[in-house]
Amino acid sequence: MKFNNTYHQLGDKFYQSAIPAKVSNPTLLLWNDTLAGNLNLEASFCRDKLALAQYFSGNKILTGSEPVALAYSGHQFGQFNPYMGDGRAHLLGEVCDKGNTQRDIQLKGSGQTPFSRRGDGLCAIGPAIREYIMSEAMYALGVPTSRCLAVVSTGETVYRELPKPGAVVTRVAASHIRVGTFQHFAARADVESLKALTEYTINRHYPTIDIKADDYILELIKAVGANQIELVVQWMRVGFIHGVMNTDNCAISGETIDYGPCAMMGVYHPGTVYSSIDKNGRYAFANQPNIAQWNMARFAESLISLIDEDNEKAVELLTPIISQFSEDFNNAYYAMLATKLGVHDLSLIDKAFIKELLDILQNQELDYTSTFVQLTHSLSDVEQAENLKISFGKWYNDWRTLLQDGKIDNNTAQALMQVNNPVVIPRNHHVEAILTECETSGDLSRADRFLQVLRSPYKQLPHTSEFQDLPEDGDVNYRTFCGT
Ligand code: AMP
Ligand code: MG
Ligand code: MG
Repeated sequence: MKFNNTYHQLGDKFYQSAIPAKVSNPTLLLWNDTLAGNLNLEASFCRDKLALAQYFSGNKILTGSEPVALAYSGHQFGQFNPYMGDGRAHLLGEVCDKGNTQRDIQLKGSGQTPFSRRGDGLCAIGPAIREYIMSEAMYALGVPTSRCLAVVSTGETVYRELPKPGAVVTRVAASHIRVGTFQHFAARADVESLKALTEYTINRHYPTIDIKADDYILELIKAVGANQIELVVQWMRVGFIHGVMNTDNCAISGETIDYGPCAMMGVYHPGTVYSSIDKNGRYAFANQPNIAQWNMARFAESLISLIDEDNEKAVELLTPIISQFSEDFNNAYYAMLATKLGVHDLSLIDKAFIKELLDILQNQELDYTSTFVQLTHSLSDVEQAENLKISFGKWYNDWRTLLQDGKIDNNTAQALMQVNNPVVIPRNHHVEAILTECETSGDLSRADRFLQVLRSPYKQLPHTSEFQDLPEDGDVNYRTFCGT
């Protein structure tokens, strides 16, 4: 790996040097060969499993890597915490990928850092494999996301409610700059660092913004907001619930990061929450756009000192940008739902008509993913069409008429639906069963089969049906946990 350490140039307020902990028995469990190829890793290096286990457990440090733990703050469930930072992660450095993009290579679960406080800095095998499976699935679904290069079991025991086998997961992300990174320096009134961070971020993620222009901060806020809209729209397309949209988990690049308590919605209900600590449903399925907007307001606030010396004037400039978020989101969201119904142009379909379908799903307690698959099939399958006519009544006939009136033939509509409606998603009950299997027996064969299927989520492969069954209780009793 050819490391760059550009983040280090920002200076030592941005990170603390930290060396990953040594582990007793590193064993490579999962390795992402496609991603490794994309990161220009040499094939001979990728074949040496013993060496990979050493390097991606943190036992050995690759040449050129200068590991650091990043400083950041953040709002956790609405409460500002000025002292966060990587408590169990080490940034090894950045690597240039085949698309010429710098990617952060980060170990997670690799031991304590100066930011660990009471935490042990560790990660159990289950959550490590969960992050690998979920992020690979999301990537294949076409959702912006960090990815995983490797999962290595450490041979160490991690103490949670029960003792668990430990693991280190290697995360690859466009960067780890978060809303919370900006808040960190704003909270310390460190304008110089804030300015350096802003310029670094624009260079790395938004290079078309002209740093010399007067309104470059406003342009950055708009661009980050647009990416958040795209991100949450894509989450909602596939039924993803992030579960912990704290500002420290909101990446400025627009990628999904932190797969701690995430889950996939089974039965459609806007209020769906799986995270055991999200008692008030702050991060419920349909509240995600509101929270994304709230996070953008926190981002904008953190930049006030760079916009104008006169705070009131800065707020005046920011308010319309943040307000605009709701309308922009709404349009992008319904345009996305239209594509799930075979309609490429939102002007051909009423938002209220789309909403009616969601109400039907909610009232009849139908599975989100499989309903859209049935709708897709019904365009070429008379029996399926008859079934849906019975269950959806007038709505179904109106939809077919709408396609006809819009001069969208069945094949065209179906083709659009097939690329927007996955036939398989990482359903919670399968994810959990696989994690339990990996933790207890160390058998990864089903995880491998699952990953193979999840990598083609819009295709019915021979093994796909093994992972398509619906959860018995519609997942109403399913719970997820953070920080495991
Ligand atoms: P998260 O909920 O994953 O976004 O993490 C919130 C904060 O807690 C971050 O600063 C993490 O680095 C820290 N953290 C989570 N788990 C641990 C752990 N086991 N040891 C140390 N710090 C942790
Ligand atoms: Mg986090
Ligand atoms: Mg987490």
